[in-house]
Amino acid sequence: MRKTFDIHIHSNYSDGSNSVGEIVKRAKKIGLDGIAITDHNEIEGSLRAMEFDSAEFRVIPGIEVSSKEGHIVGLGVREVVYSELSAEETVKRIHELGGLAIAVHPYDRIRQGVGDLIYELDFDAVEIYNGHTLSVTKSPEDTMKGLNIPAVCGSDAHCLDEIGMAVIRVKGDPIEAIRNGDVKIEEHIKTSRILMNYFKKRTGLF
Ligand SMILES: [Zn+2]
Ligand SMILES: [Zn+2]
Repeated sequence: MRKTFDIHIHSNYSDGSNSVGEIVKRAKKIGLDGIAITDHNEIEGSLRAMEFDSAEFRVIPGIEVSSKEGHIVGLGVREVVYSELSAEETVKRIHELGGLAIAVHPYDRIRQGVGDLIYELDFDAVEIYNGHTLSVTKSPEDTMKGLNIPAVCGSDAHCLDEIGMAVIRVKGDPIEAIRNGDVKIEEHIKTSRILMNYFKKRTGLF
């Protein structure tokens, strides 16, 4: 049976709103089988979250690295990968640490993604749906053309409401499943909710 993981979540160790404990509680409540906390250039929240790892609820370590050429998630990584390396060096470092290098939101119109480097560098997966992406410069279908690595997705949640909006469904260990290319993706992205949260934050009105 496949299990459901949200592998792209931010805690208040970077720019997320919630503590690791709150994130884990919420993820369990909505029925996820596990998560990865992937804070920007910061590993502490992810390591804290590992304390909640169990057979029933898996917590995978991870980090979202701001490389010079765009954001890259290192999944399965337990230490900081320094930002401001080139994308190529970042991928190499993530591999040295035993992790998977995932090109996240590569074609986001607003935020920094690695774009066409997904076709050149040794990425293990590409995130084709991201819960925080409002607009892309290349469709998921076109992105995957000629690419021989699995497509994944993640909510990129920065608050509790957003957790689980884009998830992967895998058999067994998520890292191994991605390595083997046996991943299904599901998105439940509600753009209206993202916009509402944005205005809520900005205006404090509702
Ligand atoms: Zn990002
Ligand atoms: Zn992110």
